[in-house]
Amino acid sequence: MRNPVIAGNWKMNMTVSEASEFVCEFLKCLKDFPDRVEVMLFPPFTALSVLSTALRSSSVKVGGQNMHWASDGAYTGEISGKMLKDSGCECVIIGHSERREQEDNLTINKKLGTAFSENLRPMLCVGETLEERESGSTLTVIQTQLSECLQGFDRQQIAKLLIAYEPVWAIGTGKTALPDSAQEVHKQIRNWVQSKFGIEAGQNISILYGGSVKPENASDLLSQEDIDGALVGGASLKVHPFCDIINAVKNI
Ligand code: PEP
Repeated sequence: MRNPVIAGNWKMNMTVSEASEFVCEFLKCLKDFPDRVEVMLFPPFTALSVLSTALRSSSVKVGGQNMHWASDGAYTGEISGKMLKDSGCECVIIGHSERREQEDNLTINKKLGTAFSENLRPMLCVGETLEERESGSTLTVIQTQLSECLQGFDRQQIAKLLIAYEPVWAIGTGKTALPDSAQEVHKQIRNWVQSKFGIEAGQNISILYGGSVKPENASDLLSQEDIDGALVGGASLKVHPFCDIINAVKNI
């Protein structure tokens, strides 16, 4: 059985003191969370150490929002997987649509390879733009992203991977995919994983939905068969809405 995963992507928000305040309040809510849920927080790089120290004795995992494919070297302004590990990270988002403006599937593939070798659990984001959706090419776009980004990996690596389906038109816009249309895409993603990496890989992989998830729509989305969790942007910046989304897992 797949455990639900709820992840908060803070993007370029929260100073170190704001992150510390958040975590103080958040720690008080942990006791009410359903046992099965896996919670992840992706703060900006500057708040990683403070957050991973504060959450060390909890089950909440901390991750980076991006990383470079090289482990070190002359890459001004970049962060390596080794540095994420050093800051207490267990996971990393790779290929978020806000990053895809500057990186292609080949680069994402290299980053995933580095994440696996650094023992970071990668969350690969895929999703179509509004134009692609309207032209009826959603599934082709997603299959291309999956096959190019996951080229060359084996079943052991795929067993560590998380996938987030994030329709680009739904991110930060307040527009959410209808639960049954998101479910349809999730099912296709699972079928694709199954066809390339086997039944077990397809059945075990967690596929999260992202795009304007809020306390009001979380239960409807999470109760879909192939939606195993949520990647939450805006609504993860405030403790109580984020906790309400985590607790929505109780309704499924
Ligand atoms: C995201 O940034 O991954 C995201 C889904 O953002 P939002 O929830 O704000 O749409």
